[in-house]
Formats: sequence, structure tokens, C-alpha cells
Amino acid sequence: MEYTELSNGLKMPMGGFGVFQVTDKEECKQSVINAIRAGYRLIDTAAVYGNEDAVGDAVREVIAEGVCTREELFITSKLWVQDMENYDTAKAAIDASLNKMGLEYLDLYLLHQAMRDYFSAWRAMEDAYQEGKLKAIGVSNFYAHVLTNFCETVKIAPMVNQVELHPYFAQPDAVETMKHYHVQPEAWAPLGGGRYQPFEDEMLQGIASAHGKSVAQVILRWNVQRGVTVIPKSTHQNRIEENFDIWDFTLTDEEMDKISALDLGYVGPAVKHFNPEFVRGCLGVKIHD
Ligand code: NDP
Repeated sequence: MEYTELSNGLKMPMGGFGVFQVTDKEECKQSVINAIRAGYRLIDTAAVYGNEDAVGDAVREVIAEGVCTREELFITSKLWVQDMENYDTAKAAIDASLNKMGLEYLDLYLLHQAMRDYFSAWRAMEDAYQEGKLKAIGVSNFYAHVLTNFCETVKIAPMVNQVELHPYFAQPDAVETMKHYHVQPEAWAPLGGGRYQPFEDEMLQGIASAHGKSVAQVILRWNVQRGVTVIPKSTHQNRIEENFDIWDFTLTDEEMDKISALDLGYVGPAVKHFNPEFVRGCLGVKIHD
């Protein structure tokens, strides 16, 4: 596995495991255990996924089994917009995430969306970071102009920005802006999130067979080679293992360019942040009373 170093010196794995939409607690716990046994060390959840407790259970179980230590793991969660009303609601939500997971600290905590009063919420995250409850803090779904304003304004700049990044929505300019501010890009939906049909693409199939790899491995590797952390999700053991077996081959510059040329150059169908109805929908999602 490869690692990157965040702006605060923390080591972050370049590959991880996401659990969005794994709502069945037992399935989530078992998938995370399987992933960690397969070698993953980064797990990505969020308060709004409703499975922080299952991730915490899995983490304690693998540590008890001696698969790895807590220090070797990199556990991420995210603050939901309902809790981004003000400093106090954010502060309470950080503690709620820690309690649900049964962990003393999280390795990374992200503002899930640039919505509500995210500056006040960020100040609560800065304080929790300084208290050692969060080893790194970052943002998610921050477009380049929002990220720029944010980095130029806050006291502690975000260390990570998790956004949709795959060959069909490559966002090269946004990635450049992140690098300018020493913000590590992290790809959600690195396999396209079940959209775009990359697995049927003949060019990708050709590159995959040239390396004795699968299309999924090739597109994950493409992101890693351009400096982007990937967090594919799967509840199938064979795919969990396949998606982590990407550290023993290198795409050529020509292959990288061919994959980059798949970029549609516009916001993908899953991203509706520019749609007021989508924003109102997010603002209305409650994860507690
Ligand atoms: P992914 O790109 O990881 O795609 C997941 C889909 O691909 C699932 O349908 C999965 O099916 C399938 N799949 C997985 N591996 C393979 C494979 N090797 N071959 C073929 N199909 C495969 O999309 P996600 O949307 O799940 O994103 C990944 C993670 O990113 C999430 O779990 C979450 O942690 C994070 N995320 C963050 C967001 C944010 O706003 N910050 C938004 C969305 C996601 P199956 O499970 O059946 O194998």
C-alpha cells in the first residue's frame, strides 16, 4: 500500500474502503472486518450513513483479534449538515460520532457539505483537532472556488477534500487547486458509483489486460497515480480484495492520458450541488431529533 503525508504530517493511506449505503449493520460490520483483513487501513463512514456504530464495532473486533493496531488504522467520519447550525451543535456532533464508534479519536473528520454555517462548524472541528480528538480535519464536496475562499479565511486549513473523482468526472482544475493549498484530494465514487459503465469500455479493458488487471483496478490506479486517494465501496469479498490489489503495477503516461481523455468535463449526474432542490433536500435530512 502507498501512503501520502497530509499538511500536518499525518500519514494517510492512498487506498481505503467506503461504506455509503451499507445500511444493514451486520453487513457493514462484516464488510469492514473483511476489508481490514484484506489489508485496507482507511475506512470512510459519515454520521448520515447511519453506520458509524457498525464501523466502530468492526474496528474493535479486528484490534482484539490482533489483525492490526488502532494506530495503523485511519478512520474517517463526517459531520452532517443538520449539525452544522452553529459551533455548539457541531461540537456535540463530533462527540456523538466518537461515542457511537466507541473510539477515543478519529483520524479524519470532514465537513460533509458546504452548507449551513460551515465556518462555525469548522471552528468546532479546529478545537477538537487541537484537543487531539481529531487527528486531521477536512472538507467534502467543496468546489474549487469554495475551497479557495475557505482556505484563505480559516485559521487551520483543511487537510483533505473528498469529492467525486473518476475518469468521467476527473476535475483536473479542482485537483490543482487542492494541491495549491496542500489539501489532499480524496475520490468518492472512484469506480463511477455504479454509473457510466466503465467496465464495458474497450479501451479500459485493453489497458487492464495489458497489465493482467481488472478495469476496476485500472481506474483506481489512475486516480492514485495522479495523487488522489481512493475509497471504493463493495459488499462482495472478491471485489473488496480486487479493489485493494492495485499497488503492484504502474500505468504508463500514455495510458494515464487515454484514461484522462474519458473526462466528460461537466458535473456528473450524481452531483446536484448546483440544484436548489438538492440543497433543500440535504438541509432537510435529519439524522436525530
Ligand atoms: P464506488 O465508485 O465505490 O462504486 C461502488 C459501486 O461499484 C457499487 O455498486 C459496487 O457494488 C460496485 N463495485 C465495487 N467494486 C467493484 C468491482 N471491482 N467491479 C465492479 N463493480 C464494483 O461508489 P460509492 O458511491 O460507493 O463511493 C465510494 C465511497 O465514497 C462511499 O462508500 C463513501 O464512503 C464515499 N462517498 C462520499 C460521498 C460524499 O459526499 N463525501 C458521496 C458518495 C460516496 P457491490 O457493493 O455490489 O460490489
